[in-house]
Amino acid sequence: MKIAVFSTKPYDKDFLNMYNANHDISFFDSSLNINTVSLSKGFDVVCVFVNDKVDKQIIEILAQNGVGLIALRCAGFNNVDLSAAKQHNIKVVRVPAYSPEAVAEHTIALILTLNRKTHKAYNRVREGNFSLQNLIGFDLYKKTIGVVGTGKIGAAFCKIMLGFGCEVMAYDVYPSKELIDLGVKYFDLDKIYEQSDIISLHCPLTADTKHIINAHSLDKMKDGVMIINTSRGGLINTSDIVEALKTKKVGYLGIDVYEQEENLFFQDFSEQLIEDELILRLISFPNVLITSHQAFLTFEALTEISKTVYENIDAFENQEHLNNEVIQ
Ligand code: NAD
Repeated sequence: MKIAVFSTKPYDKDFLNMYNANHDISFFDSSLNINTVSLSKGFDVVCVFVNDKVDKQIIEILAQNGVGLIALRCAGFNNVDLSAAKQHNIKVVRVPAYSPEAVAEHTIALILTLNRKTHKAYNRVREGNFSLQNLIGFDLYKKTIGVVGTGKIGAAFCKIMLGFGCEVMAYDVYPSKELIDLGVKYFDLDKIYEQSDIISLHCPLTADTKHIINAHSLDKMKDGVMIINTSRGGLINTSDIVEALKTKKVGYLGIDVYEQEENLFFQDFSEQLIEDELILRLISFPNVLITSHQAFLTFEALTEISKTVYENIDAFENQEHLNNEVIQ
């Protein structure tokens, strides 16, 4: 198959080349958008990532260009217009699970860094400052953790937090019996907002979950709550959380995703002016930690992603059942 890979980073190229058996693969650094979609002409497959835009207009052009398969190299598919793909008979496949632990463990990294301030200690000690002033954290042991979404990543996260000796409360439209047996207690969202010391988001971005964290839900939370989002930026109303940080309602914020990330993340702006005022405001808070969508970035996850991308493409080429097809 002729495959066009968009939004290619050096690690994508390395891993996709490593596991390529027989496909004709071209790598494009640029993301898939209205200006770059013409590059797809003559390809059977476009391989895209989280911030590639695969809306109705782009799908129409993909279809005209002869593309038959959109192969996501991620789990989330909120950036693809599934009904337009169906209408144009383009199949959509994804990598549903590559390493839930990679994302869950990064979530823990955000929590521990915000809490124990290891990033600040690292910089201090390098400058010969061995003071402990302002580095006080809190024990995670016996704290209450609220988990929104207990699918693969949320479940891996719950298990780690149980290991820390935390009380784990969760909300999911489909509670998990396995997690209940392990000691996770399911409640409605309001109870989670009221009782949690830390709230971690692991649900997908849908019409129901967009801005699930907003002024109204923030109001119900404990003062000084820690909020962690490694799921999708659109789950949080960013302006509302900035206000809540200013009033100290939110004591800590750790995010690996950001609502306007598509114009920023995965790129180096260190020598340019950043025009996004909201992210600049977020960066200015001492109790906010931002990573740029790196939670998935482990050796194991990249290996699994590459293998599954090719399994999906091989199944499409051989007209077999598409196990990882995304159907509306
Ligand atoms: P999953 O499908 O296994 O789990 C999602 C869970 O959310 C399911 O149990 C589902 O029932 C639940 N859910 C759906 N709607 C809900 C709602 N309204 N309220 C509460 N729960 C709801 O997905 P996963 O593999 O665990 O991934 C979760 C999310 O993590 C993905 O959607 C993606 O956005 C994000 N993700 C981020 C990264 C990263 O690098 N930061 C990597 C992979 C995935």
